Amino acid sequence: MFRRRWLSAIGAFALFGLLSGRNSFADALAQTSPKADEAGIFDVIVVGTGMAGHCAAISAKLSGARRVMMIDKAPLVGGHSALASGSIAFVDAKRQAAQGIEDSVEKFVNDARTAGGDINEELVRSIALHSGCGIDWLQAQGVRFAPNIFRAYGGMHPRCLTAFGNSGARYYIFRLHEKCRELGIETRLLTKALGLHRFEKNLLALRLLDSRTNSEYMVQSRSIVLATGGFGANLALRMRYRPELDHEVPTTANPRGLAEDPATGDGLFLAQMLGADWVDMDRMVMLSYWGGRMLDYIGAEIYVDQQGCRFVDETATTAHIARAIARLAGRSMFVITDAKSDKGVNVGAKIAAGSIHRSNSVTEMASEMKVSAVELQRTIDEYNKCALENRQDQFGRRIFLQTIDQPPFYWGRERLMLHTTLGGLKTDVKARVERSDGSVISGLYAAGEVAGGIWGSDRLGGTGLLQCLVQGRTAGEEAARHASQSR
Ligand SMILES: Cc1cc2nc3c(=O)[nH]c(=O)nc-3n(C[C@H](O)[C@H](O)[C@H](O)COP(=O)(O)OP(=O)(O)OC[C@H]3O[C@@H](n4cnc5c(N)ncnc54)[C@H](O)[C@@H]3O)c2cc1C
Repeated sequence: MFRRRWLSAIGAFALFGLLSGRNSFADALAQTSPKADEAGIFDVIVVGTGMAGHCAAISAKLSGARRVMMIDKAPLVGGHSALASGSIAFVDAKRQAAQGIEDSVEKFVNDARTAGGDINEELVRSIALHSGCGIDWLQAQGVRFAPNIFRAYGGMHPRCLTAFGNSGARYYIFRLHEKCRELGIETRLLTKALGLHRFEKNLLALRLLDSRTNSEYMVQSRSIVLATGGFGANLALRMRYRPELDHEVPTTANPRGLAEDPATGDGLFLAQMLGADWVDMDRMVMLSYWGGRMLDYIGAEIYVDQQGCRFVDETATTAHIARAIARLAGRSMFVITDAKSDKGVNVGAKIAAGSIHRSNSVTEMASEMKVSAVELQRTIDEYNKCALENRQDQFGRRIFLQTIDQPPFYWGRERLMLHTTLGGLKTDVKARVERSDGSVISGLYAAGEVAGGIWGSDRLGGTGLLQCLVQGRTAGEEAARHASQSR
């Protein structure tokens, strides 16, 4: 058995060497043969330590997987998940009814269809069905939520929770990572997955780069979960499908180009080595987020153009707002709220970075924005009138949570950025990665933003993290089951 595995390793690693040109066959063999014994084999390896990766690793361990490891190419855990505001969507009639909200899986699916068009109904329904118990599961892992259920930015119904103390999704990551440590899940940071190959029928091999020593080595696992996030930061790949999204369009994860955005689509290429299919690669969410916007919920802000006039229903879907901004000069706008609104978790950082400003009067704000004070005052007065009368305005807006009249006014400029990629690996409801003919790749699972073809051309607010939660849990459970059947 060992000899057969060892010999097939020789073939596989020779192929790695040829494909990547990074390591000679002799190097790979020398580094790998000592690991090719039962003790060196993992049950489940999770590539990526964002929300999807953490949910998958914990769920694999809780489902009986013996040896579970998470790896990440970055020096910190969390990926984009650690940057997210923390809005997480769910449907749970009981939980929502306690706050007077009626909802159902059917309504969620319909809303998702209104937002995204040609959704994958089976996957959307499955995500919605498992969302309520997913929230319970997060709580069982020690995650606490703020009590209020709200309608998130880009959402169509009050069905979102956020982290306790408005501490952002990094709080989920910290709690889940503590849980991983408690469960004995190993984490290797600065460890990049470079290659993925079938070692033998029930065994996959990952080729890893240890960035601290710049050395490559191999690990074997019965199951592998890809949770590597999206591909918005891979300029060549995104421009292959959307040529207009050139280097001038930043990502919301890295608006000023100060960091290394990890969303380079590595999981797509890894899975492709085993024949995986990519779907909906041209579907991407454009969002104005990292400039002047400062609320995680809708109904308490207005958007104005360079003349100080409103131009869109600020409570509409993300895609609708993005299209309206794209028509404005400079593809940018101003966001305005006042002292009364509940500012999001990132407001302090945005004020420090100079993207959000405070003004003591509308005249002062207009002067700093370089727009007509008369026009801006008229815009705000008209908005306040609609808000007080609670009637639909000329843009179709019906949600007015407050007037905007209490100084200081908070405002900032926003422009369109690439937020999320909706295309990626084709998966089924068990998070198994599929080939283009619909057959599944044994032992390979995908969860979170790396999985595509679910939401159509836009997704509801809070469903990015929800997808990570539901698919991550499913992938972990299925990966553990596959590993136990393969031992
Ligand atoms: C600023 C911002 C705010 C957001 N706010 C919200 C929100 O409030 N609600 C919501 O639902 N969604 C939100 N989103 C979207 C949501 O955060 C993402 O869709 C989600 O976090 C993706 O999680 P993930 O686990 O799939 O990937 P990530 O969290 O991005 O994790 C992927 C990890 O994989 C690692 N990795 C990649 N390639 C390799 C490799 N080859 N080897 C090893 N490791 C690798 C990366 O380093 C990274 O750590 C927001 C996104 C941003 C950028």
